[in-house]
Amino acid sequence: MLFTKDKPLEEILESLGAESNIFLLACNGCAEVCETGGEKGLSTMKAAMEKAGKKVTGTDSVDFLCNKVLVATRLNREMDKIEQADSILVLTCGIGVQVVSKVVNKVVHPSANTISVGGLQGLWASDERCEACGDCALDYTGGICPITFCAKSLLNGACGGTHDGKCEVDSEKDCGWQLIYERLEKIGRLENLKKFHKARDHSKMFPSKDLRETSFYDIEK
Ligand code: SF4
Ligand code: SF4
Repeated sequence: MLFTKDKPLEEILESLGAESNIFLLACNGCAEVCETGGEKGLSTMKAAMEKAGKKVTGTDSVDFLCNKVLVATRLNREMDKIEQADSILVLTCGIGVQVVSKVVNKVVHPSANTISVGGLQGLWASDERCEACGDCALDYTGGICPITFCAKSLLNGACGGTHDGKCEVDSEKDCGWQLIYERLEKIGRLENLKKFHKARDHSKMFPSKDLRETSFYDIEK
């Protein structure tokens, strides 16, 4: 179970910028339970987007957005509506956003922050990982997580030690920031690299009091 919390609407609108045609995609798994995804999350977000003057080219939900095969199969039937959109706003956890960015050649935006992996973590047969940093940065990294794909979890570009596209910490692994660069180039968003991402606020990784009082965090009773 991955716990997610909606990003502030202002932050989502800022990340969408001048993009006016948006496709909404929600997860019916963990995100539905957290009410950041599912049908409820979709209808709330659709209303918010339209109120903000955006055109929603289509909406869809998938049972588990962390399942790459399922997502690719399901989105095939929506490709015409996705093609009309400038980007996809994905209502789910960091894993789901990464999966969508991998299967669709489109700009993706996370609508939520993943704040905790809670109890047992879901299983997914893919490379994507989320460290529940509480302040999802996938928006400006082209849907590749800088926290888990970079050995040093760097937020503002490569460390300078990469060699032939491999990480200086582990030469068996691709440099996460090389992958991010290639992805941004592919979707035409290299200008994202000029943005400065402020230092992480690690307190965002700590679950709120409400969440700690659920059965997963029954540690204070
Ligand atoms: S930036 Fe990475 S670790 Fe943070 S919420 Fe997004 S996917 Fe998870
Ligand atoms: S080589 Fe790349 S992945 Fe490795 S620590 Fe440096 S920036 Fe991160």
